[in-house]
Amino acid sequence: MYDTIIIGTGAAGISAALTLKQLNKNFLWIGSKDLSYKISAAEMIRNYPGLSSVSGKDLKNAFLNQIKDMNIEILDKQVTGVYDMTQNYAVLCGSDTYEAKTIILALGVESVKPIKGEVELLGMGVSYCATCDGFLYKNKDITVFSTSKEFEDEVKYLASLAKNVEYLALYKDVDINLDNVNVSFDMPKEIQKENKKIKTILKDREIISDGIFVLKPAISPAILVPGLEALDGHIVINRKCETNLKGVFACGDCTGRPYQYAKAVGEGNVAAHSANEFLQKNK
Ligand SMILES: Cc1cc2nc3c(=O)[nH]c(=O)nc-3n(C[C@H](O)[C@H](O)[C@H](O)COP(=O)(O)OP(=O)(O)OC[C@H]3O[C@@H](n4cnc5c(N)ncnc54)[C@H](O)[C@@H]3O)c2cc1C
Repeated sequence: MYDTIIIGTGAAGISAALTLKQLNKNFLWIGSKDLSYKISAAEMIRNYPGLSSVSGKDLKNAFLNQIKDMNIEILDKQVTGVYDMTQNYAVLCGSDTYEAKTIILALGVESVKPIKGEVELLGMGVSYCATCDGFLYKNKDITVFSTSKEFEDEVKYLASLAKNVEYLALYKDVDINLDNVNVSFDMPKEIQKENKKIKTILKDREIISDGIFVLKPAISPAILVPGLEALDGHIVINRKCETNLKGVFACGDCTGRPYQYAKAVGEGNVAAHSANEFLQKNK
């Protein structure tokens, strides 16, 4: 049982992890070992205190060095659900479960609105997690939609299981060359269920398959954490970064604008201190 599980490895999660390490807490940090694409994607950052002009790549390396120096590990996984177990929280990563007394959500913000039908058909032909649900589609036909290159390993994994993959990419320079993968650059308009099959409606055509994987960096917080209060896609917090769920804190872009590193880092620090205070009070 961990004191805290931090979900997300962007600026907010990094700040929360550094603070919890300094507070000597027993925590698990789940996300990507490559941190967040929103760090490396920035061409030049000019509003980060102490660094008058820094590229996203240099800032990412500085963060990685700091994490290494502090001996902090990242568990490279995608969280698929967070559930209230009354005394603590269960965090699911596919078939693996981790438990903690407190949770810090540093999820970033969804850059793409859910596709019409996506949320309604979740678990009924729509999946967010290749490693969790891929085996369900062995030798079947699937559609995969991804917003970012960072998911290409998952697409390749799905292609190793499925018969045929219709890959819809929302980014350029796709690097997937497999016989059973057909790549196109298209955005689904709607997902429907039809006679146990999934119909993906595009601008000029429709794809019928056994299921669709929607791979994107952030899942809507209220879907990830049932019972969590959210407004316009953002997690509702107070000044202590507390959410409506006891022991659950949130920080960074997922709590609202402005979407900025400094705000994310500041809230990550506040969330970690608030989690620590909660742990002291509820020993
Ligand atoms: C091109 C670009 C340039 C920018 N330039 C600037 C700038 O110059 N100055 C500035 O202040 N801001 C800038 N920003 C904004 C800045 O990048 C964000 O405000 C900041 O990254 C927010 O950090 P975050 O930790 O809240 O979220 P993110 O950086 O989005 O990190 C969230 C992380 O959580 C992970 N995650 C989400 N859900 C899960 C899950 N279920 N399981 C595991 N992991 C999960 C995501 O994959 C991601 O890695 C820029 C953004 C972009 C895209």
